[in-house]
Amino acid sequence: MDKLKQFSSQAVYKLARFMYGRNGYDNLARFCNMISIMLLVLNLFAGSATIYILWFLSFGYSLFRVYSKNIPKRYEENQKFLSMTELPRRYLSLLKLQIRDRKVSRYYICKNCHQQIRVPKGKGRIEIRCPKCSEKFIKKT
Ligand SMILES: [Zn+2]
Repeated sequence: MDKLKQFSSQAVYKLARFMYGRNGYDNLARFCNMISIMLLVLNLFAGSATIYILWFLSFGYSLFRVYSKNIPKRYEENQKFLSMTELPRRYLSLLKLQIRDRKVSRYYICKNCHQQIRVPKGKGRIEIRCPKCSEKFIKKT
């Protein structure tokens, strides 16, 4: 048992040393990994060579990001990815809140400034005023 413990702590240590100075899992790497898993599942049914190549590319790219030692460059790419996907990611987190609080609240995004607004459910048609930019719009809650 001690041998096993020693072995596993050594393995953790080796892994930590190996990962030192490398980029690791960032948002873009995780995104590519997610895409590659979806492609893999899709290809269980489709069996297409094109999808296989796309899977290889997305999986390879996510690995490349994780093990890359050029951290400033990868950081810059990750930031670009985050700013490019800001709106869809915001809608996605809104959707999660919407599902979680579906019985008590409704969430809206201001068309003008993209501020997230929460209103209680079941008030009928009401005028909502954005707390950030004072834009008004009518919604049924
Ligand atoms: Zn607003």
